[in-house]
Amino acid sequence: MQKIQCPKCSKSFVWTDSMPLQGKCPTEDCNWQYDVHAEIKKGVERRADATENVLFCPNCQKTITSKLTICPHCGYVVVGSRSYPKKNVFIFVAVVLIIVSLIARYFFYLK
Ligand SMILES: [Zn+2]
Ligand SMILES: [Zn+2]
Repeated sequence: MQKIQCPKCSKSFVWTDSMPLQGKCPTEDCNWQYDVHAEIKKGVERRADATENVLFCPNCQKTITSKLTICPHCGYVVVGSRSYPKKNVFIFVAVVLIIVSLIARYFFYLK
């Protein structure tokens, strides 16, 4: 089963396994020739486009490539739908590292 849209009459039809791999558009007076392999390939490409959803920087609203990235436009650190100035992230990471080292030391002295 493959849905095919005719570029000539813009009607779509469903290709089934019992139909030839290449053939004529089922619409009368339309002489467009379909090719199932080409259509399947097109469908795959379309799906690939859909998964590549466009992301926007929450700070400057420009396009970014990943949900976890540093925006190349404004330099903010983007985490999901939030953005943080780099300075804040460094402070956050530093605080986390201090806490982790304190916990590690605590467990170390327990043993
Ligand atoms: Zn057609
Ligand atoms: Zn930005």
